[in-house]
Parts: sequence; structure tokens; C-alpha cells
Amino acid sequence: MTDPRRHIPRTDALLASPRLAEAVRALGVATVKAAVVAAQRRARAGEIEPSEVGEVAVAALPRLAASLRRVINATGVVVHTNLGRAPLSPAARAAVDEAAGTTDVEFDLVTGARAKRGRGALAALADAVPDAGGVHVVNNNAAALLLCALALAPGREIVISRGELVEIGDGFRIPELLRSTGARLHEVGTTNRVHLRDYACAIGPDTGFVLKVHPSNFEVTGFTSTVDIAELTTLGVPVIADIGSGLLAPHPLLPKEPDAASALRAGASLVTASGDKLLGGPQAGLLLGDAELVERLRRHPAARALRVDKLTLAALEATLRGPLPPVRQALEASADDLFARASALAAKLSDAGVDAEAVRCLAAVGGGGAPGVELPSAAVSLPEEYGEPLRLRDVPVVGRLERGRCLLDLRAVAPADDSELLDAVLG
Ligand SMILES: *Cc1c(COP(=O)(O)O)cnc(C)c1O
Repeated sequence: MTDPRRHIPRTDALLASPRLAEAVRALGVATVKAAVVAAQRRARAGEIEPSEVGEVAVAALPRLAASLRRVINATGVVVHTNLGRAPLSPAARAAVDEAAGTTDVEFDLVTGARAKRGRGALAALADAVPDAGGVHVVNNNAAALLLCALALAPGREIVISRGELVEIGDGFRIPELLRSTGARLHEVGTTNRVHLRDYACAIGPDTGFVLKVHPSNFEVTGFTSTVDIAELTTLGVPVIADIGSGLLAPHPLLPKEPDAASALRAGASLVTASGDKLLGGPQAGLLLGDAELVERLRRHPAARALRVDKLTLAALEATLRGPLPPVRQALEASADDLFARASALAAKLSDAGVDAEAVRCLAAVGGGGAPGVELPSAAVSLPEEYGEPLRLRDVPVVGRLERGRCLLDLRAVAPADDSELLDAVLG
């Protein structure tokens, strides 16, 4: 028997071949070399023919230099934190692509002088929320709260209801975030009930502000009472409202979800919110409200550590100025339209011999927004065994398991992705 090692192509020869040379330009030499070395090892072990080394290396290459993958969200959770929350609109993606190179983020092309960072995004935000005297954008809503505490309550007290001491997720808690700044929390009321007099008793010379946090990921029902923003503004101290989900104006489908315009009209000094929940944009923290307070936040030394990059600014501006983002389209899709899509997909799958049927089901807003709100939805129901292979595809489809079936809920799937969903199930 001849020694197969003699015929194994050398690494440099392989890397010089057109397909691998192109891969080196797209993915970097280290990644391509690793794939080549692995393929050579397999040839040495006799698992593949020496002549197949180049081909096998090419087949093993990732599509991109980064490991984050596009995923089709068929979970029925519109804002899914584990799946990156809001998908960006095509307009926002285009804006990100444009800003990714050298860009005029802090430069005035007319005068050739330095300009205010992110002025386009800030102007779009100001236009979208005319009730806000000032606007600022930071890394996320947690950063917005951190900045409020650092700038407006250093060594002082933040008055907050015990019913609003929220854990956001992944073990992070708003009260601990606020305390980490050195501010003290003055808790008032009980888990289920708080009254204006509780707040009034807590207000004193040490009060920095009153914080009202939207309990966005849980619901307390039964014997409950809370104090609304309008009442809190009678206390004579700044009232900051963390509305969570980033609705800028009331939404008819989510009547209980707080929004920035209503909170400001009710008299909130500042509103904080996320950019990547119901607003449907990039991860960001929005700060809206009293111009003088916003300026104090903007000039605080820590603001620099919390600032957003050019990609975020580009995506946020395009989300605010551009067409309805995917999150809003998903939220507003009619259940009958979703059922029609599910029926069309199920019919094609049945024709191909797959045990598939269209079912009506319930989707959720998710992502720390509108707890308890169920959105009537529709899904393609498949045998449970489909779940794993769908998740392990090159473009993974993540469904949900319900009563022994794998449901592909169409609420958060863009209609344009239906044909890809079909191909995915047909394997
Ligand atoms: C989601 C949420 C946060 C955290 O927002 P991030 O943008 O993820 O930092 C804070 N407060 C409320 C009420 C929320 O719903």
C-alpha cells in the first residue's frame, strides 16, 4: 500500500488556489488555514482522499468572519431577547452599512468643523417626541437609568415603590444598578400597594428624584394600587419614568403599555426607554424630557462611557424616520393574514408528505414588554422531532414546542421569509 501522506497537497499550495485565496480575503488567513489543516489531518487519517482536501476545507468554512448568525424567529415572541430583540428594518440596515465606514458622525461637511455627535438621530428623536424639551441617547435603558442616578442623585436618595423593584433579566436588577452609583434607595409602599402619602412622607432634602419603573415583565393583580405620574409630579421633586419598551406614543393594541408622550404630558421630568424593544430599533437607551436636566446628563463625565457608536445612531435615525420597522409590522399583523400564510405553507408541506397543519395559537410581545398580553397568531404545526434539525441549519429556524408539537409561529416571521421557512422544513 502506498503512503497516502505523499499525495496530500501542501498548505501554501492550497491557500493559493482561487477558492481558498478568495476565502482568505473574506475570512482572514487564520480561519482558512485552520480549515485546511483539519482537512489535511482527515486525509492523513484516510477519512478522505488527498485530492478532496481543498474541497473539504472550503465546505468547512464559515460564511462570515463573525460567529453571530441570522436566525428566523418562529417562536411567536415578537421581541425575543435571546434572539437579539428587534430585527432592524431594511432602511436601518442600509443606514448601518453606510455609516460603517468613515462617516460624518461628528463632522460638519459644510463648514469643515467639528459638529454635534449624532445630531441626525437626536433631531429624529426630538421630532418623534415633540413633548420632550431635550433628548439624549445612551447605550441602553440600563445606562440611561445609571446616568440619571449618577447625575441627579449622587450620594442622595431615589424614592421608588417596592412594587417596582424590578429584575430585568440575566440576574440584573434595577435597584442594584441604581445603588451601584452610590445613590440610596428610599423604598415606599408594599409589593402590591403604594399611595401618594407614602411618597410624600419619603420626600426630604436628600431626595434626588422619584423613580417610576414600569413593571414590564410581570403583572401584579388583585388588591393593588399605584400612583400615576400626574400625582407624583405634585410632590415638588423631579419624577423620572422608566417606561421600558420604548413606545413613543400610545399604541391601540397595547392600551396598558406606557409611552413617552403620555408620560411627559403627565408631567414626568424625564423618560427613559429602550431602543430595541417596541420601538423596533438598535440597542439604545433613550432619555427624553426637561431640556436642562437632559443637558446635565449629557455633560456628566460618565456620559462619555455610556455613549453610542455611529452604527447605533445610524440605525436609530433610520428607524425613527424610515418605514415601519419589523417589530411593529409583526405586532400589527392580522391573525387572519397569519393564518392564511400558515395554511398556504402547511398545504405545500402536506403535498410533500410532511405531517403539517395550520393552527391558531397565541403569541407574545416579549422582551420585557406588555406582560400578559396575548396576540392571536397562527403557526405551522409539525411533529416535535423537527425542532432540533431546524435549529441546527445554516440559517436556523427557532420554533417553540407546545403539547408535543413543534410550532412555527408566523407572528414574528417576515412574510418575505415564508419561502425560506418552507425550504427549511423540506430540508
Ligand atoms: C427592558 C427594561 C429595562 C432594561 O433595558 P435595556 O435597554 O435592556 O438596558 C429597564 N427597565 C425596564 C422597565 C425595562 O422593561
